[in-house]
Amino acid sequence: ADRAAASAPVGPGALADGTAVPLLANLGSSKGAADAVAKGAEGVGLFRTEFLFLDAETAPSVADQTAQYTALLEAFPGRKVVVRALDAGADKPLSFLNDSAEENPALGLRGLRALRANESVLRDQLTALAAADAATEADLWVMAPMVSTVEETRYFTQLARELGLKTAGVMVEVPSSALLADRILAVADFASIGTNDLTQYTLAADRLLGSVASFQDPWHPAVLKLVGEVGRAGAELGKPVGICGEAAADPLLAVVLVGLGATTLSMSPAALADVRSELARHTLDEARRFAALALSESSAVEARAAVTSAAAGT
Ligand code: PEP
Ligand code: MG
Repeated sequence: ADRAAASAPVGPGALADGTAVPLLANLGSSKGAADAVAKGAEGVGLFRTEFLFLDAETAPSVADQTAQYTALLEAFPGRKVVVRALDAGADKPLSFLNDSAEENPALGLRGLRALRANESVLRDQLTALAAADAATEADLWVMAPMVSTVEETRYFTQLARELGLKTAGVMVEVPSSALLADRILAVADFASIGTNDLTQYTLAADRLLGSVASFQDPWHPAVLKLVGEVGRAGAELGKPVGICGEAAADPLLAVVLVGLGATTLSMSPAALADVRSELARHTLDEARRFAALALSESSAVEARAAVTSAAAGT
């Protein structure tokens, strides 16, 4: 029986009514690629590139990066692979990019802001990605972290296209970007919502600080309302809206996120099976009903409880 389960084909993510919800993997290095494929990942929704830069005194060369990105893309022929530009600062500081004297690094020169202040690092990374893309068969998408304005969106997508990348988008991790998602998505090819940071910035609670950990709950209706803004803008403009924060790995919350307009979900590969089976239990109408229910509550605890009991009755 074990062998049968292990070799059973893993189908694509879908709701009970057949609506496709591609399930993608979050990866931090190309080493996890084979395991993600074995667990049924339909591609990569978030490739974190920080590992290439950690412990480095300077940025890795274009040749080194090209080799790493090529190894990743080769594992996903014909599949979508979303690579995030270096997200340095705050919870992921890099000595050569970030100023350790900032008093509020989460509100400082992090993510795309830090890359812009060191544009050669960004140019080298995008150049390496374009070279890896040209050498492989994967469908490479690139995105920028910690984007808070439409102007930053324009900057990143223009630079990515100038350097030969076809599909360029941004992460929505800051309330300002969610609130102006229609204008962000008029410029970007896609959005991917980072619910870890979006929750941190919406609730004004440091994601690494244990004393405020109870605020870091993506079921909070304020966070879900922002996700809904992005989902609506994506639907209006016909642009994909992914989720790549931890929220996508919570099976019932994943259903709610789809109800709010998420078109793909990306998570650590270990979470794929449970999310896949929960999605298969609900239709899109139900997902939308759960989303409306969660939005109508006043706290994360109440939203989770309301959707949990509604799901138990289905
Ligand atoms: C997020 O913020 O939700 C996210 C996916 O990015 P990271 O956790 O790497 O900041
Ligand atoms: Mg983030």
